[in-house]
Amino acid sequence: VLVLATLLASFAFGKPLVYVLATGGTIAGSAAGGATDTAYTSGAVTVDALLKAVPQINDIAVVKGEQVANIGSQAMNNEIWLKLAKRVNELLKQKDVAGIVITHGTDTMEQASRASRAMRSSTSMSADDPLNLYNAVNVAINKESKGKGVLVAMNEEIHAAREVQKTNTTGVATFKSPNTGKIGSVFYGNVKYYLNPVRAHTKASEFDVSKLSELPKVEVVMGYANVDRAMLDAAISSGAKGIINAGVGNGSLYPTAEEAFGKAIANGVIVARSSRVGSGETTRGGETDDDKFGSIATDNLSPAKARVLLMLGLTKTNDKAKLQEYFYKY
Ligand code: GLU
Repeated sequence: VLVLATLLASFAFGKPLVYVLATGGTIAGSAAGGATDTAYTSGAVTVDALLKAVPQINDIAVVKGEQVANIGSQAMNNEIWLKLAKRVNELLKQKDVAGIVITHGTDTMEQASRASRAMRSSTSMSADDPLNLYNAVNVAINKESKGKGVLVAMNEEIHAAREVQKTNTTGVATFKSPNTGKIGSVFYGNVKYYLNPVRAHTKASEFDVSKLSELPKVEVVMGYANVDRAMLDAAISSGAKGIINAGVGNGSLYPTAEEAFGKAIANGVIVARSSRVGSGETTRGGETDDDKFGSIATDNLSPAKARVLLMLGLTKTNDKAKLQEYFYKY
């Protein structure tokens, strides 16, 4: 579950007002009734039904539900992200809104949070969504959550948007922050924090999505032994303004990638080196001399998160030095 707390939470009818923006996912999924949890349809349950299933939420907050989308998050796209971001910005301008909870499938939640969810569907034998939703609302109304940006509340842990990563395909303890660890915990609504996110986010961000109807095209290509150049050329010639290389090790490039990206850079495409390893920094001037090659390094953002930041960066500038700065600022 993604959570946002406003800076000035005000309280309606003695209880804080929380908006639940639903996007779908397993939290809104329904299984056909078999013993295995993995066969289900994401996004089959509406936000009203979700909220009805957790009446305990009404004891702590006044909750309003809105259905922004109802999809499995594997089908998430730039258009829904923009719609969601715009609605969040609108709601956060309202003085009576204490916080926002976004229910979201886990597959792409780490990307959206850079824009609560469940791993087990609401009809499965070990559904985790009621408690995740209850905990998320508690995080959203907790005063300590203010100023921490977008948070992910799942499986009793609270993670910062920049750091969080899905790490297990099916397990409920899938969300980890490989580079920094969780920033807090939430146990049956009891919220505790241990760390603060320090990189710029939300209110301190210079990216304004309010006037955007689309995002610049940025594609991710995978690095591996023997990568065929045709794969890379296809991504480059698709009209991408930016390419993220999910490289091996410290974002290193297979020789065909060096050739293809070198040509792309000469043609004005922004090439950013990330790593498929899962944690650690892709260092500027590691095994690739970025100054000479003309690439940028993505700090310790995963390829998918780096794509989001590069798309936002490209809405402001094509200047490589400036884009590189964004990767150290956000
Ligand atoms: N495909 C699902 C989704 O992301 C995965 C399970 C989940 O909902 O977390 O929507």
